[in-house]
Amino acid sequence: MNIIPKKKLIILMIQLYLILNLTIQAEGENRNSIELQQSEWLFNENLAWDLLLAQETIGFRYPGTAEHLETQVFIENYFSGLSEWTFTRQTFEYNGVNLANLIVEKESSNTLKWVVLGAHYDTRAKADNDTVDTSVPVMGANDGASGVAVLMELARVVAEKMFNSSIRLIFIDGEDQGSGGMAGWEWIVGSSYYVDSLSESEKDEIECFILLDMIGDENLNIHWEKNSDIGLREEIWLAADALGHAEFIQGEKYGMKDDHIPFIQAGIPAVDIIDFDYPYWHTRNDTSDHCSAASLNAVGQTVEKWLTEKVGLNETDPSISTPSDDNKTTLMLVFDGTIIILIIALKRKRNLKF
Ligand SMILES: [Zn+2]
Repeated sequence: MNIIPKKKLIILMIQLYLILNLTIQAEGENRNSIELQQSEWLFNENLAWDLLLAQETIGFRYPGTAEHLETQVFIENYFSGLSEWTFTRQTFEYNGVNLANLIVEKESSNTLKWVVLGAHYDTRAKADNDTVDTSVPVMGANDGASGVAVLMELARVVAEKMFNSSIRLIFIDGEDQGSGGMAGWEWIVGSSYYVDSLSESEKDEIECFILLDMIGDENLNIHWEKNSDIGLREEIWLAADALGHAEFIQGEKYGMKDDHIPFIQAGIPAVDIIDFDYPYWHTRNDTSDHCSAASLNAVGQTVEKWLTEKVGLNETDPSISTPSDDNKTTLMLVFDGTIIILIIALKRKRNLKF
């Protein structure tokens, strides 16, 4: 039996130490690369665009029509294919017409606070800004379908990325019939009804509300909206800036009476992401040929990035099975300790000096 010379033994121990250390480092890098893969942007502009076109195919979607009900079914069916979300219908009557806010939720056990995103799905019954015929309805490719399309595609993204937060999406009814759109109707009927229906504790549980409206214009210019929460809109516009989406312009231009107002009045920080420089607003020409997939992408990707930073990815994702940093540190301490004990034992046994 050969006795290993003491020098060789020391070199062997150092080699062992380095090998284990490198293995653990490689494991850490592998985990980082999984995290990096997960943070790539998943928003798909083509899927969002198809969702916009599908609503246009349904037709004019103002309250009281078969097309309005068909839009509800279209949204409900979409969520029946996304099992992470639960779908509920908040029905109510307004001026003798049945309305429904469609509410979908993905609840996380990690937090009680809800991040709420919304878009109105009704389209205007009267094209009162049209220069030729003001008696016909508005198709609402931009004013209605664009926000809904981005919200639906974001739902797929959120389900896939498992954001570490409770997220609620509201497809809002009855936004767009004020000022004579339908006789005797107010603006923002659905969002007002929704906020009124919340208890004080339910309001407290909402961290913020983000509204998407008229975001499909092929010449997209989204200025800061004047009634929006200042800190929150800065966060979102900075996310756009980091992605190079110059469609988001840091500077106020318009103040809107839109679905974010009832939330603000209830003390909930809210932002309206809206491009109000749309020449086809409330005309017969609010159609998909004046919208673009790239515009939907600018907004969808920005909200995806902002959400990722706001609420993060879910660290309990079961697809990540590598050891945690704490486990790695513990493993290294145990190994270091073993090396020290071995060296002391050898020194004592052989009276080694080094
Ligand atoms: Zn409108």
